[in-house]
Amino acid sequence: SREYDRYRERTPNSAAMADDLRELVPAGVCSTFRAYDPYPVHADRAAGASLYDVDGNEYLDFALNNGTQLVGHTHPKLSAGVIEQIDRGTLYTRPNELIEFAAEPLIDRWDAIERVRFTNSGTESVMHATRLARAYTGREKIIRMEGAYHGAHDPALVSKMPPLERAGPASDPCRVAESQGIPDSVPDDVLLAQYNDAESVERLLREHGREVAAILVEPACLNLGLVEPVDGYLERLRTLADEYNVVLIFDEVKTGVKLAPGGGAEYYGVQPDLVALAKAIGGGYPVGAFGGRREIMDRIAADLDEGVATGAAHYGTYNGNPLALRAVGITLRDVLTDEAYDRVTDLADRLAAGYRDVIEDEGLEAQVTGVGSQGMVYFTEEPIRTFRDWAAVDEPFHEAYWFGMLNRGVIPHPHDASQQWTISVQHTADEIDAHVDAFADLATHLA
Ligand code: PLP
Repeated sequence: SREYDRYRERTPNSAAMADDLRELVPAGVCSTFRAYDPYPVHADRAAGASLYDVDGNEYLDFALNNGTQLVGHTHPKLSAGVIEQIDRGTLYTRPNELIEFAAEPLIDRWDAIERVRFTNSGTESVMHATRLARAYTGREKIIRMEGAYHGAHDPALVSKMPPLERAGPASDPCRVAESQGIPDSVPDDVLLAQYNDAESVERLLREHGREVAAILVEPACLNLGLVEPVDGYLERLRTLADEYNVVLIFDEVKTGVKLAPGGGAEYYGVQPDLVALAKAIGGGYPVGAFGGRREIMDRIAADLDEGVATGAAHYGTYNGNPLALRAVGITLRDVLTDEAYDRVTDLADRLAAGYRDVIEDEGLEAQVTGVGSQGMVYFTEEPIRTFRDWAAVDEPFHEAYWFGMLNRGVIPHPHDASQQWTISVQHTADEIDAHVDAFADLATHLA
């Protein structure tokens, strides 16, 4: 609470703006995830590795808009390309050469992606990938992992992070719709397994195999902090999908182009049938994509037969809009180079090592995980492998840590203990050390 008080002292303009905005938009925010007590940091502007709030505070930004900006803020190459595009037209609902500019690097990066379609968000990418899997298999049910987040559409909000008292046993979880307004029929088509437990997926397939269209999974679970797959887990999902003729969908909205150039599929060496992408592929511009094997992607409807799509429908006025495609092409071709990956990985290792030293010096009950540009501190020493392990995380302590870091000029990761930090191509070693110093100072007060 001392950190809360200090936060309030430092951010009176954010407080006032929050009061004003609550009169205009529910909870004062444009996505419910962005609302938290006492009120969020209200942004004034962002540049490079920094975010500036409306009170004139500068923060080293490791949240980077939910990890979207692996390129950092206002990257000069991206800004120049997009500004040039603005003068050539902000929207063409017609095929154009930018489609190739953006599609080719995605096809190059994922062995699984032979064809790709563009969307405007991760939600749309997952939604269309699952519809396509259903169209391809002629089946309806989707197996997903309890506790994972896959977007804001109805089935994705079934057991996103259910309260344990409503979640039932881990071996047979209850399907909890985590929003009002989701029809009762929606959870019926969702089957819940546990991340890192291939046996739980196999059980569902044995029982419902002929009704299952897809297994939907993040290759590393980035909405439970940063949970890596245990050895053999993804490989086993691949085998099971083949055995039961089920489409394996990797939700790489967060992992894609961040764990490795070709996402979790490359990093863990397992290729899915379909990949859902968004976030970092567009360097901060609103864009998503889904892609995969030719025979599945070609099930996307080419035309209408008496008004009915001849395959899986994929529509959208802003799909593949030129500003976003320009951003994707520049991000993937010119900014996220091999050297850039080496750099962010080195810096992420440096940050993780700094955290580990502080944790040891101060005797904190905590652990650090990391892959590529991504990393995470958990305030528990218990291993976190599935959603059910999450109960061990000391969330109130994490909350004090998060505000304590803000008060020391660092946004360590998006608000919430389930989120991780991102190192951008614009962070420097000095900024990593400043982050560690802030944690070291805070830790003496927390311990
Ligand atoms: N899938 C995953 C794994 C995500 O983390 C998110 C967003 O955080 C989404 C899908 C939805 O993406 P968007 O917010 O762009 O709709």
